[in-house]
Amino acid sequence: MDKFVYSFGGGKADGKGTMKDLLGGKGAGLAEMSSAGLPVPPGFTISTVVCNLYTARGGNLPRAVNEQQSKALVKLEKLVGKELGDAEDPLLVSVRSGAKFSMPGMMDTILNLGLNDKSVLGLAAKTKNERFAKDSYRRFIQMYGNVVMGIDKDAFEHELSAVKKKVKVVSDVDLSVEALDEVIARYKTVVEKHTGEKFPQNARTQLRGARDAVFRSWMNPRATTYRKLNDIPHDLGTAVNVQTMVFGNKGDSSATGVGFTRDPATGANEFYGEFLQNAQGEDVVAGTRTPQPIAELAHVLPKAYKELREITSRLETHYKDVQDFEFTIEENTLYMLQTRAGKRTGTAAVNLAVDMVEEGLITPKEAVARIEPASLDQLLHPVFEPKQRMKAKPAAKGLPASPGAATGVVVFTAEDAVHWAKRGKKVILVRMETVPDDIHGMSVAQGVLTATGGMTSHAAVVGRQMGKPSVVGCGVLKIDARAKQMTVDGVKVGEGDPISLDGSTGEVFLKQLATSPSEVLRVIDGSLKPKASKLYQKFEKLLGWADEIRKLGIRANADGPEDAKMAFEFGARGIGLCRTEHMFFASDRLPHVVKMILAAADGQKGLDVVADLKSRVDEARGGQATELRKQLAAAKKEFGPAIDTYTGSLKKLLPMQRSDFAGLFRAMKGNPVTIRALDPPLHEFLPKREELMVKVATLRAQGERKNKAAIARVSKMLSAVEDLHEFNPMLGHRGCRLGITYPEITRMQARAIFQAALQVAKRGVPVKPEVMIPLVSSVEELRLQKQIVLEEAEKVLGKSGSGVDFLIGTMIEVPRGALTADEIASEAEFFSFGTNDLTQMGFGLSRDDAGKFLGYYQDHGIIAKDPFVSLDASGVGQLVEIGVQKGRSVKKKLKIGVCGEHGGDPSSIHFFHKAGLDYVSCSPYRVPIARLAAAQAQLAAPRR
Ligand code: PEP
Ligand code: MG
Repeated sequence: MDKFVYSFGGGKADGKGTMKDLLGGKGAGLAEMSSAGLPVPPGFTISTVVCNLYTARGGNLPRAVNEQQSKALVKLEKLVGKELGDAEDPLLVSVRSGAKFSMPGMMDTILNLGLNDKSVLGLAAKTKNERFAKDSYRRFIQMYGNVVMGIDKDAFEHELSAVKKKVKVVSDVDLSVEALDEVIARYKTVVEKHTGEKFPQNARTQLRGARDAVFRSWMNPRATTYRKLNDIPHDLGTAVNVQTMVFGNKGDSSATGVGFTRDPATGANEFYGEFLQNAQGEDVVAGTRTPQPIAELAHVLPKAYKELREITSRLETHYKDVQDFEFTIEENTLYMLQTRAGKRTGTAAVNLAVDMVEEGLITPKEAVARIEPASLDQLLHPVFEPKQRMKAKPAAKGLPASPGAATGVVVFTAEDAVHWAKRGKKVILVRMETVPDDIHGMSVAQGVLTATGGMTSHAAVVGRQMGKPSVVGCGVLKIDARAKQMTVDGVKVGEGDPISLDGSTGEVFLKQLATSPSEVLRVIDGSLKPKASKLYQKFEKLLGWADEIRKLGIRANADGPEDAKMAFEFGARGIGLCRTEHMFFASDRLPHVVKMILAAADGQKGLDVVADLKSRVDEARGGQATELRKQLAAAKKEFGPAIDTYTGSLKKLLPMQRSDFAGLFRAMKGNPVTIRALDPPLHEFLPKREELMVKVATLRAQGERKNKAAIARVSKMLSAVEDLHEFNPMLGHRGCRLGITYPEITRMQARAIFQAALQVAKRGVPVKPEVMIPLVSSVEELRLQKQIVLEEAEKVLGKSGSGVDFLIGTMIEVPRGALTADEIASEAEFFSFGTNDLTQMGFGLSRDDAGKFLGYYQDHGIIAKDPFVSLDASGVGQLVEIGVQKGRSVKKKLKIGVCGEHGGDPSSIHFFHKAGLDYVSCSPYRVPIARLAAAQAQLAAPRR
């Protein structure tokens, strides 16, 4: 027969510490502690399987469950020598939930079960403490009435207050026995009035009622939401723990408390916790009395304290991890109620893991395996002052796009951000959405907040790359940038008003909260010596262990030399993606870029026509040649100005790009640097169509004649913007499609790359450029672009290559690219998966608009995770696997990486490891996370 109920106590247990699936965390811990001979009040655990049966069968449990439960109860009664509900010396039990993963406060608990009108008198006589017995009974009726019988807590609180008022006392502890009798009588009336039934006097009926209520609480909205937020599956179920009550409220020789074997906030090896003398556990949790620091217990109850220290040290050694424990001291006797691995901050996690390796408690591998990679983020970003943060109430919540705490005053445009920052103000840039044009504002802002956009929107990607706390897609913001105002869920906020963001949770606060800088970051940016930071040393040590384990290479997505230097310090050994277009937005470049774009169509056409005519002139004879020469002269005249502007602007951009690339090569010290040819649709570099329309209208309204020149200028820009307008720009004229139609752009970029490489190589620094062609969907596209790059390589490096080893490869980011990867591999020397676009096109889901409804999809279980954050392994993942398999079927050793945002996401990194990629590339601030996650991937699924 299936076993549903597991006893523990008296130095024995049916279950084991490893049976968390079945017994829940608490039940497994109790079994393990009991077997180890620790002083655990005995009891039994009803398994999680029963919870699922309860839900599936609408509360109608199989008979075997009740039979096993009855047997376990009789066994317990024998062990402690007391009976549940006994009128003379009753056994009292607690009934608590306990799931596999801790869900603090989300489900229900009942204490003092077994009390009734008779047993309460027995308890009073046995303990010689009538007040204690009556108070326990009134607490029980209140809890049972609320949790099991569904009566509102207020109905009881109302009666309690009424009695307190009547007998003129303020605090519960001052109620006399007679007053408590009245409270009990009133409580029983409340129960009858609300349910039409008397309060149950049969203790076994009480127990079934409590058990069922705990099972029901698994599905309550609070618990369901908590599971959703923490990725805990709904089908795990909770166990129910029935355990002998021990009392911390039997006078001054009793106490109750909670603690950690080390400090969970910092990781310091200090015994840490709180206790309350003469109190029950719920008093500690409820916060009605202020607990004392645990060190005080050494003075108050020295014997119990000594024993507690011994036991908890043993527990820590046994579990090889920090323990979070609960205890009760009943008349000088210590009982352990719970122990489990303590939840910790990112900083504590690193300190603890490294300390424990040094103490010989765990191995470096165990240290690496134990740390949640995402928690490293907390070490790299400013954090809010914890007390202020706890008290602050968020005014809104968006997507947690880039972690860290930021505080400042609100500004609504990039220009205002720069303006306020120049005056020494810390600003938060608030926008509907950000565009590349906002980059100067973003760079001076402490943080960025947007009303729209998802996890791969511009603000999110750039925020992460800059390490700037960002919250995006915060739908309740109603922004009127022109009026420099917004409302946040109805509250008006203007320019200069205080605001704070938590980029790790997505919360927005309408006040200033104090922050402190990251110590690790100060070492990385050079403002603190590594020797001066113990935390940094431990951080590096841990990541050093990770590096020894991992198989995946770690590169960074970095666009400029500063980002690249930072990435190198974080441990990146190579750049996996330099988005060259980001360099185009600098104020000294943008005017040339705009000029180039405006002349590109005519300029490129002119170049083609002139080249064609020239070759025909060369081949022609006689009259035909004269005619062609005439045509050539006419073409030169017609297209000359456009050609000059087009090639002239590209010439201006060349040295700028060259110096950026040289900076990247130097920063990466001989590691590979992947530079991608221009990718975004050209309209992104031009002013917005709507803004231009408004400008023209305004100028006209102010006076046609007066503004004639300005109107002509703006109208010209408007017509160019309209020419470039596309209904679906992300599926339009971008990526290699630009390079193919405007080959001069690719040519200029390739030339800049090779010139920079040669320059740096000549100074003795090794260089490994990798030229990457974006958005390739057919081998022919790659072949055409590659030809141009090779021509430029030969022009700059000569036939010999001048000692510069370079590769030409492609992004695989269009589904057709992945499906024809074998054909593409015949021309490519490497692949890099662009999983942002691959997800966008694989799902047919716009990465800029999906934020609007993905939240709904997640809330309703349509998708488990945002696919732009965590790779959709079963769908888009197949495209990656096909790409790898087909690519390597042609070139066995083809180098393959990933440079989409997923390259910094731990669960996606596990996928890429298994798929056989050579490296992942992510934003510099995620490099440490990727190093750790890659090592964990290797530990979980070793690869040779
Ligand atoms: C991608 O699509 O994954 C990628 C890295 O390119 P981008 O985000 O610049 O489109
Ligand atoms: Mg892309």
